Amino acid sequence: MSTQQPDPQAGAAVKAADRAHVFHSWSAQGLVDPLAVAGAEGSYFWDYDGNRYLDFSSQLVNTNIGHQHPKVVAAVQEQAARLCTIAPGFAVDVRSEAARLIAERTPGDLDKVFFTNGGAEAVENAVRMARLHTGRTKVLSAYRSYHGATAAAINLTGDPRRWPSDTASAGVVHFWGPYLYRSHFHATTEEQECERALAHLEEVVAFEGPQTVAAIILETIVGTAGILVPPAGYLAGVREICDRYGIVFVLDEVMAGFGRTGEWFAADHWRVTPDLLTFAKGVNSGYVPLGGVAISAEIAATFDRRPYPGGLTYSGHPLACASAVATINAMAEEGIVENAARIGESVLGPGLRELAERHPSVGEVRGLGVFWALELVKDRVTREPLVPYNASGEAAAPMGAFAAACKKAGLWPFVNMNRTHVVPPCTVTEAEAKEGLAALDEALTVADRYTV
Ligand code: PMP
Repeated sequence: MSTQQPDPQAGAAVKAADRAHVFHSWSAQGLVDPLAVAGAEGSYFWDYDGNRYLDFSSQLVNTNIGHQHPKVVAAVQEQAARLCTIAPGFAVDVRSEAARLIAERTPGDLDKVFFTNGGAEAVENAVRMARLHTGRTKVLSAYRSYHGATAAAINLTGDPRRWPSDTASAGVVHFWGPYLYRSHFHATTEEQECERALAHLEEVVAFEGPQTVAAIILETIVGTAGILVPPAGYLAGVREICDRYGIVFVLDEVMAGFGRTGEWFAADHWRVTPDLLTFAKGVNSGYVPLGGVAISAEIAATFDRRPYPGGLTYSGHPLACASAVATINAMAEEGIVENAARIGESVLGPGLRELAERHPSVGEVRGLGVFWALELVKDRVTREPLVPYNASGEAAAPMGAFAAACKKAGLWPFVNMNRTHVVPPCTVTEAEAKEGLAALDEALTVADRYTV
């Protein structure tokens, strides 16, 4: 598929310029060793040396429609020729249409859309809206969560990426969400886990003082912190707690939204409607930066006469909105959400469970759609993780060896702590999914060497 002849010299030049001038995110600058990417198409990308990778990471779980979808590329080109930029205060066709298409698909009465440039900014604004709507300040979020890297969003994040930026966390309180495999509540069944996680959350609300809590924010299905699918009844239970105490319920669907789970939104699996829903990534597969908040009628009404204090120069950028319109239309026309559901049910789910039977390093398989995790362990009986929590350097070597084995087998993995996330584009074909499973099979033999 690679349309380019290998050109290692060009790759070396790209990399040399990168190392000279690009300051990389989340990285020790002296240690980064980025792959120089020459191109991409569909479920694959390739380097300058002639290596092609099956993208089982969807980059940062955003290329739901695959790389270089021709309809989205054409829409960006056409929009660029017509109107590249216009300030957020004007009404412009692609922005109106993107908002309409999103509002049509979001659950319940989430019919107004505030556009942002990405996920963290969506979270920042959802929190601001909730605080202004309620007149309260505290926000509750889960320890096992990721909500973004800007000021409020990183504080809301529960995982260790929060630690270096934890100083401005006024008003943020963390709680434990459900995670039966490593239950914080000593539960042994889904029902127990659900009931106890809800009781715990309600107790946190009681001890914080319900009249001080503006919002509870959750990832509908926890993404980077583990692909944790909530037990049946959990989200409905959180909805009830929010209703009982007048708390704004925010669902963060930045990663789980727009087809990834085999529904337009993960909340659709449980028919739950939040008050605010944050999105980004899959809305236009990241072809141009875009995110946003879908807002309930009640919260939108708060800002009917009172100005909403937020927005950036590029909010609702025409190129981003044009790519969202093209993405959503292509997803609908080509049955891409249905494809994600079908591949999850008939290929990835059964295939990953079959791998778990043969590989002692697989502790748990969980997920749905094209949103799965293999949690790797040293010992299936004790469930000791293959690498310790938040390990780095030598301590993380087993996961490093596993990731290297994936790449050698032609698969680009999404590795986080002791897990590999299996997150191909929603457009992945059955043959590609099987190719990925075969590569994981090969790489898991490397992980198995570290088991007891
Ligand atoms: N929320 C969730 C659930 C995410 O997964 C992410 C990004 N991985 C964010 C928010 C932040 O999005 P962004 O990186 O676009 O700011």
